[in-house]
Amino acid sequence: MKLGIVGLGLIGGSLGLDLRDRGFEVLGVSRRQSTCDLAVAMGVADRASLDLSLLAEADLIFICTPIAKIAPTIEQLIPYLRPETIITDVGSVKAPIVSDCAALWDNFVGGHPMAGTANSGVEAAERNLFQGATYVITPTEKTSVAALNKVKDLACSLGSSVIITAPTVHDRAVAWISHLPVMVSAGLISAVTAETDSQALKLAISLASSGFRDTSRVGGGNPELGLMMAQYNREELLRSMKQYRHNLDRFIELIEAENWQALEDILKSTRAKRPDFL
Ligand code: NAP
Repeated sequence: MKLGIVGLGLIGGSLGLDLRDRGFEVLGVSRRQSTCDLAVAMGVADRASLDLSLLAEADLIFICTPIAKIAPTIEQLIPYLRPETIITDVGSVKAPIVSDCAALWDNFVGGHPMAGTANSGVEAAERNLFQGATYVITPTEKTSVAALNKVKDLACSLGSSVIITAPTVHDRAVAWISHLPVMVSAGLISAVTAETDSQALKLAISLASSGFRDTSRVGGGNPELGLMMAQYNREELLRSMKQYRHNLDRFIELIEAENWQALEDILKSTRAKRPDFL
């Protein structure tokens, strides 16, 4: 089976490294020639080009571009493809993408490998990035079972465990565990850096260690990704942020009222619940 990858960045590049290691021929397309050259030199792709016609030979194509370019890329690819070619994507939001892409291509299967780092671009590509990660596949009632199974087999071959769920359920869940944390963490960094006492700010910067590193990590990641989460998962993100604001207000009320017992009860309950997520 020949595989195509469009968008040779962190995710596309990492997929290319692993899939070639598993014996697949990988054809890559990216936006810049320098990325294509580096991808071939790094072993991400056997061949790489700026021209989507390279993928006419591919049996299955991963679209790994930024979210806004996924559907437009499929539109541009269509003239080169055979009807049996399977297209899947790796976008971090699913409902709007699956709806647009399934309307363009019958053999489309939505996917989201839940793995990443704070880096971007082909230079950031890593072997075994998907090992032990969850790979969510989001079919609709129209998705071909054969196409779904091919994407599932490839995800399993990367060492990922596959979860199959509806696109809307995926988007509500990732709002809680991925998109809300980015906004909370970015809000934390913004709040700290707005400190007007320059001596206190300087000391805070020099004292920051593991706790601040953990809580600020996702707010200090790729801004393009954070923006796309907000634009494409707007309703679910707003819903989770409003609930979060409500909880933060409750904390403020309890501390203002010196209601230490209620605060302690909440902190005991959050400590008990956290292991469920990790
Ligand atoms: P990235 O490292 O910035 O890679 C995206 C690559 O897409 C860039 O290297 C760029 O290539 C290429 N590109 C941009 N526009 C293109 C176009 N019109 N045609 C062809 N190639 C184009 O980003 P990423 O983190 O891999 O994210 C890619 C996708 O994976 C996104 O949809 C994101 O939602 C999803 N995702 C990300 C993560 C994460 O944690 N980062 C996790 C799971 C899923 P050039 O270098 O050639 O310009």
